[in-house]
Parts: sequence; C-alpha cells; structure tokens
Amino acid sequence: MNAVTAIDRPVEISRLRGFVTAFADLIAATRDEQALLNSGSVLLGRLIAKDDWLPDAFARPNPDRYQQYLLHCDSRERFSVVSFVWGPGQSTPIHDHSVWGLVGVLRGVEKVERFRRKPEGALVADGESLLHEGEVDAFSPRIGDIHRVTNGRDAAPSVSIHVYGANIGAIERATYAVDGTPKTFISGYANSVIPNLWDRS
Ligand code: FE
Repeated sequence: MNAVTAIDRPVEISRLRGFVTAFADLIAATRDEQALLNSGSVLLGRLIAKDDWLPDAFARPNPDRYQQYLLHCDSRERFSVVSFVWGPGQSTPIHDHSVWGLVGVLRGVEKVERFRRKPEGALVADGESLLHEGEVDAFSPRIGDIHRVTNGRDAAPSVSIHVYGANIGAIERATYAVDGTPKTFISGYANSVIPNLWDRS
C-alpha cells in the first residue's frame, strides 16, 4: 500500500527504493570515482525528474535552520541519500564533505558558491551557479568539494536530494570562516525515523 500524506497525496516511494537499489548495484560494479559520479548523476537525474515520491515529513522546512533528512543509508555506509530543505533566506555555512557527493534539485532553485583553499589555507571564490529543478551537480575532494548552498527562492522552500560516498551525517568534516579558518563538525540528521522503502504490498 502506498503511504498517504497529510494532504492525501499518494507517495510513489517505490521510486526511491529503485534508486537506492540501482545505486547499490553501481557501487558494487565500480569504485572508480568519476565513473560513480557520471553514472550516479544519471540515476539521480531520473529520480528527481518526477516530484511524486518524497513523503512530506522529509520535505518540511524549519523556520530556524535548513533541514537535513536521512532518507536511506547503505548497510555498509558506502553511500547515503539525504533530502535538504531550505526555507526562504536559509543557507549552509561554507563547508567541505571529505567524500564525493551529488546534488539534484527536486523543488525550487539553489545557489551554489564554490571555493577552493590555497596551500596556506585562505579561501578563494571559485565560481557560483544556480541549480534548477531537475539539474544535478557533482563534487569531491579531488575536483573541489568546498561550497556554500543557499535557497535560490525568496518566498518558498527549496528541496534537493543529495547522495554521498559515506554516511554523511556521521563523518567528521569542516566548516570554514571566510578567512579559511576550519572548524570540524559532524552534521547528524534532523530526523530520527526514515521512510519505509520496503513494503511491497
Ligand atoms: Fe554540501
């Protein structure tokens, strides 16, 4: 049976199940990072092409800060899938990831500002872009993984789906002050329960 949301909209959670199954197959087939990013972008692009599968509980903004909801973590923590929800005006700090990642916008627009670090530690702006619904961006420590993400809409939330090469909420990484001073953090998640992908009735 499909889960029913508060507004009685049936949720096609099987789409998320198919995605995590395909992603596990991909990781079993290759550990080459660029191949993972290329093929993973295609899988994520398909997932976000249709906005009918994310339960409302994992798309809910919080007026105080952006939300990071775990949707699925691979049993061996080789990858995790997370929904990020930004309310109007909300933004992440400048941060890194220490693993590869993919971001696909499901709803709204996101502004991504990229930075790189000089050998002595100073941060340098390295371009920015707007990611629109259906678009996917990739990053990794190899190709650059320091950024700040801001809701690109002034009056409505934006929601994006992220995939990372680890249990992202559990690993130690860093936020950065504008002068490049790092501060280690472990992000955790906003939710204590995750969607049930596995009811096939
Ligand atoms: Fe990020």
